[in-house]
Amino acid sequence: MTMTKINGETHIIGFFGATYKTSKMYRMYNAAFEALGLNYVYVPFIVQDIEKAIEAVRHLGIKAIGVTIPYKIAVVPYLDELDSDARRIGAVNAVMNNNGKLRGANTDGKGALKALQEVTHVAGKKVVLLGAGGAARAIAFALADEGGSVVILNRTKDAAANLAKAVDCKYETLDKLEQEIRGAHIVINATSVGMAPMENASLVSKELLSSALIVMDLVSNPRETTLLKEAKERGCQIVYGDRMLFWQGALKFQIYTGIEPPIEVMEKALNNF
Ligand code: NAP
Repeated sequence: MTMTKINGETHIIGFFGATYKTSKMYRMYNAAFEALGLNYVYVPFIVQDIEKAIEAVRHLGIKAIGVTIPYKIAVVPYLDELDSDARRIGAVNAVMNNNGKLRGANTDGKGALKALQEVTHVAGKKVVLLGAGGAARAIAFALADEGGSVVILNRTKDAAANLAKAVDCKYETLDKLEQEIRGAHIVINATSVGMAPMENASLVSKELLSSALIVMDLVSNPRETTLLKEAKERGCQIVYGDRMLFWQGALKFQIYTGIEPPIEVMEKALNNF
């Protein structure tokens, strides 16, 4: 538990999201504030009405808000401005309050990229991206920015087509997986397939996983999904979804405070959860 000393000058960073009871971010941020001697505290808020909750941020002088499901898109109409990532993704995961002017940001794409860059670079690589929902959207832009050659594969064709048009990349439906995975360097699961309670499911059959592939799963519950377990068994390098969780959070720390995140302190707090 944090030892932060609350006083009249404490900056409050709040959390809006359905996972407010189980989020690991309280430990991660409060440990970082304490280690750097910053007069900040990170606390949950239970949102009844998102419009009123955002109004409260303005009126109570709350410094910033971390935002997750189900408010990432719902919050957008009530903000004054968006940064370039939030604008093109169409969703925010952080809101900054600058004297009553609220600015939305989104660190999901850069967070996922940082997780992937712990094991590989992306430029010139063929990336098969499974999914076309919110997380896939964030990552697709970040991969394309880095010079990755992205192919979006999604169950619903229209969603794949819309995202591919925005990113300016190729798309197919999931039945083209076998064909597209050949010659790919990186496979990323950005669908909810494999998430508890359906942890036995995977969109990629084990035989398609050649050892040269780097396989990343955004699903972080369970930590080792069926896809990652099978990829490991086939000799692939793997990237866990909790690395993205970590990095999108670390990048938000910088947005909240303007200070470099203390990476080791935050990692330790997250791992000791
Ligand atoms: P979302 O917007 O609801 O999108 C869900 C995606 O999964 C869609 O592309 C959907 O395809 C696909 N899908 C769902 N069930 C499927 C099935 N049975 N077969 C094939 N495709 C299926 O969700 P999201 O916000 O993008 O989140 C996706 C996953 O990423 C979740 O597990 C979430 O926990 C995880 N995530 C992790 C992090 C992290 O930091 N690690 C951050 C964000 C999200 P259709 O278009 O066909 O419906």
